[in-house]
Amino acid sequence: MTMQEKGNISIHTENIFPIIKKFLYSDHEIFLRELVSNAVDASQKIKRLAAIGEYAGELGELKVKVAFDKEAKTITISDAGLGMTADEIKKYINQIAFSGATEFVEKYKDKGDEKAIIGHFGLGFYSAFMVAERVDIISQSYQENTQPVKWTCDGSTEFEITEATREGRGTDIVLHVAEDSVEFLEEFRIKQVLDKYCKFLPIEIEFQEKVINNPTPIWAKSPSDLTDEDYLKFYEELYPYSEKPLFWIHLNVDYPFNLTGILYFPKVKNELQLSREKIQLYSRQVFITDEVKDVVPEFLMLLHGVIDSPDIPLNVSRSFLQADGNVKKINSYITKKVADKLGELFKADRVGFEEKFDNIGLFVKYGMISDDKFYERAKDYCLFQNVDNKFFTLNEYAEFVQENQTDKDGNVTYLYASDVKGQDGFIQSAKKRGYDVLKLDTVLDNHFINMLESKLVKTNLKRVDADTIEKLIDKGIAVDTILSDSEKETVKKVFEEVINDTTKVVNLEAMPADEMPALITQNEFMRRMSDMSRM
Ligand code: ADP
Ligand code: MG
Repeated sequence: MTMQEKGNISIHTENIFPIIKKFLYSDHEIFLRELVSNAVDASQKIKRLAAIGEYAGELGELKVKVAFDKEAKTITISDAGLGMTADEIKKYINQIAFSGATEFVEKYKDKGDEKAIIGHFGLGFYSAFMVAERVDIISQSYQENTQPVKWTCDGSTEFEITEATREGRGTDIVLHVAEDSVEFLEEFRIKQVLDKYCKFLPIEIEFQEKVINNPTPIWAKSPSDLTDEDYLKFYEELYPYSEKPLFWIHLNVDYPFNLTGILYFPKVKNELQLSREKIQLYSRQVFITDEVKDVVPEFLMLLHGVIDSPDIPLNVSRSFLQADGNVKKINSYITKKVADKLGELFKADRVGFEEKFDNIGLFVKYGMISDDKFYERAKDYCLFQNVDNKFFTLNEYAEFVQENQTDKDGNVTYLYASDVKGQDGFIQSAKKRGYDVLKLDTVLDNHFINMLESKLVKTNLKRVDADTIEKLIDKGIAVDTILSDSEKETVKKVFEEVINDTTKVVNLEAMPADEMPALITQNEFMRRMSDMSRM
């Protein structure tokens, strides 16, 4: 049996509308972000029209005002932007997913900076119905010989347009707040949402007679116009009462994607002390999220600051974000910038770099472990400190120990201590032979050592207490010991019975006369295994 039929699936707008309202955004509070950013767009557009001579009237004060009336249960967002005629409302508002912003950018794209316009999905306005049972738009277009109009809609597919009155150019969006959303009729709640999303919008936003935003955040300015003071002040603005950051990187690209931002290196000594402060993600100065997991490489999530990019797709699922080409490019750009900045600091001020390495080291090592490209850049300035607190780069260290610490098979051995106090006996015994011992004692160092061994040629890293020093660096030289062969046998047996642990080895055969007569060690491999199982 064959059956074949082709056709179109039909969509009833009445059915799709509630779905858009409910599921477009998971967070109801973002209705305010959407409406305020539309008002900002409208203000930017009239500025643009004036600049290119398409609008000859007075621009006046271009503030966006947010007001609420608890009795009347309304929230009103007003702007002095370009406004809309009845026809434009029908075109831009009644057609879901038709963006007037995109159309505007298309139309004027040769005439300057289209980056200034926020909207482009043509869906934002409808988020109003997540909290409102009815929405009114009262608008007066900037165009001559047009009348103010009022559009009203209760969230069904029916609307009404009537004549209205309005003083001057611009738009008021009036939300008649639904019973289940009265939380948004509280001053602190509105302030909270504005602070979260609108803090850096490029047009002044006024609420309760106060301007709540900083329209010109420093990340949008040119680095050459900024002083250290400016960067520190902005950090304070982002994270009040935090300790000063160590240094920062100003990100600024416009090809092959748009991205600006400032990343600060905070003071952190170890991963466990990870701060609550997070990198904030913006798109055209509108706050989007502080979950930057897919945009910023994981090892850089320890940094603070802001990233602003209109090229990061918003309102899409995580898996899509991970697969997005721009996001991947942004990721590697940020990695490269951070790596380069660290390299510059190292070159410009080695002593300062060494002083900060306690803090920086965590990023650098984490980055080298997790990202091959970062490893390639950072291997030239990643520092190693020995137990005498002297710093070396990887190359410097290789040279430093080359002569003394090459064993009879031609392999170089780096000795390290994971606990300088606890392993002091072993450290002293290594030093006595002219060997150097590194200090690798942070939470990350186990992984760091494994990674280094996989990268370095003919080089082993051995913990200073992993065996007798003669076995760690075997130069084939016999050492006199204090005990006779039969004494060794007896002592070894006694120790082994007491320890009763087959992963540990009792060494008597190669202890020099002036040192401890017996050494109990655990083979490097066995130790790493048991360390792993404890993690
Ligand atoms: P988008 O902002 O992504 O274009 P929206 O659904 O938020 O989509 O808005 C749809 C369109 O309605 C806008 O592109 C704009 O043309 C128009 N619009 C919305 N709010 C205003 C406003 N306050 N002033 C002028 N036009 C507006
Ligand atoms: Mg919008």
